[in-house]
Amino acid sequence: MRIKVTIVAGDGIGPEVTQEAVHILESVAQLNGHKFQFIEMPIGGVAIRQHGSPLPAATLDAALDSDAVLLGAVGGNEFNSLPPDKRPEAGLLQLRQALGGFANLRPSIAYSALSDNSPLRPEVTAGADILFVRELLGGLYFGEPRSWDRKTGVALNTMRYTRDEVVRVARVAFELAQKRRKKVTSVDKANVLEVSQLWRATVVEVAAQYPDITLEHQYVDACAMHLMNTPRNFDVVLTENLFGDILSDEAAVITGSLGMLPSATIGGKVNLYEPVHGSAPDIAGTGKANPLGAILTAAMMLRHTAELEQDAQAIESAVQRVLSRGYRTADLARTNQPNQQIVTTREMGRLVFEVLNEIIDRRQAMHAV
Ligand code: NAD
Repeated sequence: MRIKVTIVAGDGIGPEVTQEAVHILESVAQLNGHKFQFIEMPIGGVAIRQHGSPLPAATLDAALDSDAVLLGAVGGNEFNSLPPDKRPEAGLLQLRQALGGFANLRPSIAYSALSDNSPLRPEVTAGADILFVRELLGGLYFGEPRSWDRKTGVALNTMRYTRDEVVRVARVAFELAQKRRKKVTSVDKANVLEVSQLWRATVVEVAAQYPDITLEHQYVDACAMHLMNTPRNFDVVLTENLFGDILSDEAAVITGSLGMLPSATIGGKVNLYEPVHGSAPDIAGTGKANPLGAILTAAMMLRHTAELEQDAQAIESAVQRVLSRGYRTADLARTNQPNQQIVTTREMGRLVFEVLNEIIDRRQAMHAV
């Protein structure tokens, strides 16, 4: 299998964490005989410096011509005085739009080794493993008309969805639930909003094609509470753009560190994979960046683009094992854990690499028997 990946590492800690993710993908390729072709292209601040644009045409062309795009992060303090459409972040927004993904996937997982990192009690988070499927191209963020009339003091945004937009993202959620614990929680505000009534009716209609999946509905306000009280009860959470933005950030506290969170945006021309965190200029170049979000993002790429589920799981297991052996980057360190060993970005990448090799070697040995 040959997979062409455009790497847009970007700014700050972006290149540091992306390098570790690419290293992991290379080791999967080497051990299993897959072939990845990596094409490195500039985006964000580095692209502004080199080419005067946060998304040079060559980067966009390469991205559109690949099977997947792996992004680090963009942004830097030196660009903060530029107008919004000239800043590094504008390059990422343009890229997301051009790639056209409508389903944003964000896992929130409680790693047992990190149970002290969450502000929630370990007995509440233990075993939680939630996958958010957030609609990304519709709703309030894009609906027209939109305006702010400063004279009258009136501002307006429009929450708009079509049936087809709901159908396509609901299908993604149901299909992913089939590979997980077979439950979809659809989140809306159907007691108040007509858009949510359309959302709910459409999700019910789509659910009829997936009789193996249990569907439940929650109002967004109740869901915000249940996520904190009983996170284990969720499997796939399907919701619209604004609700998904807020709820997936809320649920990130289950994991306990921004540096641990991967994401994927699928359904468009080319899938986009990126850790949730930004360019973290405060720690760039210090070796303190946690590469696990980027490494777990690479695992999502293997799962959703390359369909290498076993290898995706091997990476996820390797991350869990390294954490359970006590290794921590600075963001994960806790004063009450005497057995932890603080490691740099490179060291964390190498540890995951070593454990991954062990896992894949063992798997191959079992196949050979
Ligand atoms: P940030 O995510 O970069 O950092 C927030 C805090 O978390 C910082 O203290 C940082 O050190 C820490 N952190 C983030 N990722 C980490 C990691 N992998 N390991 C250890 N610690 C980590 O958010 P911010 O400070 O609000 O923004 C910094 C820049 O990044 C801004 O220019 C912003 O616009 C940009 N940004 C980019 C993206 C993206 O590229 N997807 C996302 C968010 C912010």
